[in-house]
Amino acid sequence: MSVSRRAFVQTLGAGGAGLVSARCFPSSGPGLLESVLEAAELRPLLLHNNENPVGPSSAAIEAMRAIIGPTAIQVGRYPTNKAALIKGIAARCDVTQDNVMVACGSTELLRIAVQVFTSKTNHLVTGAPTYEECTGYAELIHTPVKAVKLDTRLRLDLGAMAAASNGAGLVYINNPNNPTATIQPASAIEGFIKDVLKTSPKTTILVDEAYHDYVTDPAHKSQIPLATQNPRVIVARTFSKAYGMAGLRIGYVIAHPDTLKVMKKWEATAAMSVLSMGAAIASVNDQAHIPAEAKRNTAARQFTLDWFKKAGYDATDSQANFIFVDIKRPAAAFRDACRANGVLVGRDFPPFAQTHTRISIGTMGEMGKATDVFGKVLSMASTAAAAR
Ligand code: PLP
Repeated sequence: MSVSRRAFVQTLGAGGAGLVSARCFPSSGPGLLESVLEAAELRPLLLHNNENPVGPSSAAIEAMRAIIGPTAIQVGRYPTNKAALIKGIAARCDVTQDNVMVACGSTELLRIAVQVFTSKTNHLVTGAPTYEECTGYAELIHTPVKAVKLDTRLRLDLGAMAAASNGAGLVYINNPNNPTATIQPASAIEGFIKDVLKTSPKTTILVDEAYHDYVTDPAHKSQIPLATQNPRVIVARTFSKAYGMAGLRIGYVIAHPDTLKVMKKWEATAAMSVLSMGAAIASVNDQAHIPAEAKRNTAARQFTLDWFKKAGYDATDSQANFIFVDIKRPAAAFRDACRANGVLVGRDFPPFAQTHTRISIGTMGEMGKATDVFGKVLSMASTAAAAR
C-alpha cells in the first residue's frame, strides 16, 4: 500500500473507507479520486445482512434505465406501474391478481399481518430464534408473544408451535428459517397448518418464504397454492434476496382475496417507487434469472460449507443464502476479529451467541477471500481463548 493510501485509510478507519464515495470530494483532482477508488476496494466484505452480492438482474437494471430515460421525467410523477407489477407477480406465481398484495418490502406486510390478526388477547406465535420483524412489531403494539425454541436440528419446532397456537391471532413460520438456514419439509408444514386450522379457529398462519428461491432440498414446497384457497393462510415473499433488490424495497404476499381486503386497509398510498416497481416487473418476467442466481448461490454455499467441515466446524443444512455455523466460541469474538480483517458477519443470535455465527454467502471470489480470513481468525489464540 502506498504511503498516501495508508494515511488516507488510517484517517478513515478500514470500515469507514467503504462508505466513502466520490461525491464526498466534489473538487477532487485525479490523485485524490484515485485514492478514493483505491480505498473503496478496501470496503469490507458484507456477509452480515443476507443480501445478494451481485445485485439486480440486467433486465431489472435496463428497466430502471429506460424509466429514467434522457430526461427522468417519469420519476417526477407518481407511479402508475403497480397494476403491471401485480399482474407480473400473479403470472409468475400462477395465482390470480386478486391473490396478490405488494408493498415496500415484505417487512411492511409482516407488520400489517401482526397489526390485523393479533391483539392484546390473541397472541403471536413465533420461533426462537427466527426473523424478528413480527416479534418487534407485536411488542410495539402490546401483543403478547409466545416464542418457541427450535428443535435439536435448529429447525422450527412445529409440534411445540402448534401447542402454543391455541387462541393465537397469528403464527409466523419462517421457512427457510433465518438465522439457522434450516427448513421444515412441506409434509411437516402442511400437517402443522392443518392441525392449527382445526384446533384454533381464529388463528391465521403466515408463512414467510423470503429465501424460497435458494432451497435445494426437494422436500421443500411453497405454500402458495394453499394460501390462495384458505383465507387463514398467507405466504410472504420478497424481491430483496434472490432478485437482488434489497435496496429497492419491494415485497408481496399471496393470500385469499378476503384476507387481502382486510390487510389492504393498512396499505400506504403510493409506497413503492416507479423505479423499484419497474425493476420488479422486469425481474418477474425474466424467467432465466432466478435459476441462474440459485445455481450461483448453491455453488458458493457448498464451497463455504465444505471449507468449514474440513476445518472441523459443523453447520446446519443450509437452504438459504447464508449459513449457521458452530464455531465453538462466542460469536462476538469471532465477529470482531473478522471485522478487523475486513469481513463483516452476522450479529449475535441468542441462545446461540456463545457458539454459532451466521455468515451470508457472497460470490465465489468473496467466499474464497472470506474463508482465508475465517481460517486466520479461528486459529487466533484470542478468539480460541474466548471459547474456554
Ligand atoms: N423475511 C425474512 C425471513 C428476512 O430474513 C428478511 C430480511 O432479511 C425479510 C423478510 C425482509 O425482507 P424485505 O427486504 O422484503 O423487507
